[in-house]
Amino acid sequence: MPKKPAASAKHAGPSVKLSLRGATRLQGRHPWVYRSDIVGADDIAAGALVRVHDPRGKFLGSALYSSSSQIAIRMISHGSVDDLPALVAERVRAAIAYRKELVRNTDAYRIVFSEADFLPGLIVDRYNDVLCVQILTQAMDAAPVRDVILQTLRDELQPAGIVERVEARIRELEQLPARPSGLLWGEKSSTVVSMNGVRFHYDGFEGQKTGAFLDQRENYAAAAEYAHGEALDAFCYQGGFALHLAQKCSSVTGVDSSRPALEMAEKNAALNGRELEWIEANAFDLLRDYAAANRRYDTIVLDPPAFAKTKRDLEKALGGYKELNLRAMKMLRPGGILVTCSCSFHVGAADFLKVVADAAQDAHKDLRLVESRGASKDHPILLNVPETSYLQCLIFSVSE
Ligand code: SAH
Repeated sequence: MPKKPAASAKHAGPSVKLSLRGATRLQGRHPWVYRSDIVGADDIAAGALVRVHDPRGKFLGSALYSSSSQIAIRMISHGSVDDLPALVAERVRAAIAYRKELVRNTDAYRIVFSEADFLPGLIVDRYNDVLCVQILTQAMDAAPVRDVILQTLRDELQPAGIVERVEARIRELEQLPARPSGLLWGEKSSTVVSMNGVRFHYDGFEGQKTGAFLDQRENYAAAAEYAHGEALDAFCYQGGFALHLAQKCSSVTGVDSSRPALEMAEKNAALNGRELEWIEANAFDLLRDYAAANRRYDTIVLDPPAFAKTKRDLEKALGGYKELNLRAMKMLRPGGILVTCSCSFHVGAADFLKVVADAAQDAHKDLRLVESRGASKDHPILLNVPETSYLQCLIFSVSE
């Protein structure tokens, strides 16, 4: 993270001392320290800015403290910080500038991605003229910090509305008072966005995540490059892949278990003047039935929810990915395109490739890797913070 010039060495404020393990972790440039690695601490208020020291008392930098999370501190600077709201404003402006350099062909993208933008606990997504904010930690929830976030976003982006999406469970875990989702500023909470020339409705109070899966935006365009013939988008949500595939394919079917998601998908299709088939079903069952009935496709997208939410789920998750991929491969015509995704952080790149390779073996198919992709550039991967890298999107050409 950017280093701030050390201000006054006398800077007051609570202090924490870390174990050697905690200090080593920070030296490895990971911003988190667990509570078990704090060996000495002043009496610290929830969400306070703290000064961090190694076991010998050497100053390591400044961090945000949580009184409830197992992740007790999240580093915010390797130097001294006198004015946290001012630093947050500067970081938000830097995050916006970073997107201006990198983001193309859309007005819907992530503006602030927590640790990856050196703003732990803050997510901000832009949906055209509506911004959606998620606040995940005590420090980011403090009134002066909230105020400066809103003010900076207003000054820099002039939105028509700023919506806050509250995840009740996260506030509970952070021991923050419950609060409803709602408009924080302005009057607009729904709008229309454009990704790669395809248009989507956005409603700040509906849907999953902050409303859309913006991390897949660049993968939609990549998938459309190779898509052809009859296409199936399994786990289609509001039609992100499906509507992109429709530009190239003779027919597209989207499958999801969520009726509200499919209703929005249908509206999105109408917005783009397209007709697609939407099926409300468990995608596992549907793929099994279609494979048994010898249905064939030329392009299949698999983008299931995270199967491995924790490390313990890994084996089961791999089994789920294998089954889906196996069935999809069996249904693909020669020369077909398989776009297969995992958003499980615990499923590493090698694990995922192995699962697809095992499925190919069982399906008696040869696969050529066309592209190996991750999240779109507005979800940066911070190299020494593995948690910022979670999405995989592999595109294969499948032959007999
Ligand atoms: N591809 C989508 C995102 C998919 S997220 C996009 O880019 O926008 C995962 C989706 O899987 C969610 O919409 C969820 O409703 C759906 N889902 C979860 N379990 C499912 C199941 N067993 N069968 C079908 N859909 C399921």
